[in-house]
Amino acid sequence: MRVLQLPALRDNYIYLLHNPDTATAAVVDPAVAEPVLEKLAELGAELVAIFNTHHHHDHVGGNRQLLERYPRARVYGSQVDRGRIPGQTVELKAGETVEFAGRLAKVLFVPGHTRGHIAYYFSESGDLFCGDTLFAGGCGRLFEGTPEQMLGSLDQLRQLPEATRVWCAHEYTLNNLRFALTVDGDNPDLQARYQQVAALRQTGSPTVPSTIGEERCTNPFLRWDQPALQAATGAQDPVRVFARLRGMKDQF
Ligand code: ZN
Ligand code: FE
Repeated sequence: MRVLQLPALRDNYIYLLHNPDTATAAVVDPAVAEPVLEKLAELGAELVAIFNTHHHHDHVGGNRQLLERYPRARVYGSQVDRGRIPGQTVELKAGETVEFAGRLAKVLFVPGHTRGHIAYYFSESGDLFCGDTLFAGGCGRLFEGTPEQMLGSLDQLRQLPEATRVWCAHEYTLNNLRFALTVDGDNPDLQARYQQVAALRQTGSPTVPSTIGEERCTNPFLRWDQPALQAATGAQDPVRVFARLRGMKDQF
């Protein structure tokens, strides 16, 4: 399984999973259809699955047009998002698995950004497609969920193996790390990462994927139990640390 990263809209990433052996492909969160259709044509691959992480338009906006061209593609999403994901055919629950190219992905229920948000975790290859829950250096805003829910979701993701690639849905890393430096500025791993990310963005290169290991060391939203973040928020309780950090970032 090859992962192709297609930039879309202002700062979205669409992921195309390609199986050259069978000339099939699956797409994660098609914000729009055009770049996906172009790439499928270039690869000579048939789209067999759409994996949606949540119902926001910049994640499902391409579903309809892709289905017009590939009417047999299955459309996966959370059972909580029933009626909100265009063309949805499969309603997923936590712990279920989906399959592409002979690889199984576990469905992780990660509410907080929205109440139905899920992530797809391919454990064999170590690929995590986490939509707008965990970002490189940050996390999604709480539109429909509580801090408790989001903390639980991020805790689930934090426990994945360190080498897991984090394929998030937006290129927000530089701004996320600017904020991170305001709350965890003495963290040498964070300082180093900021330099790397700033250099990548200078040349317009993607900063995604990162790894769970990197996120654990540098992402303030995975570091609620670290003294520096407790000091920055004036809280100890994980939910309060997280909620305050999220509130500070919303104002940043
Ligand atoms: Zn979203
Ligand atoms: Fe989004």
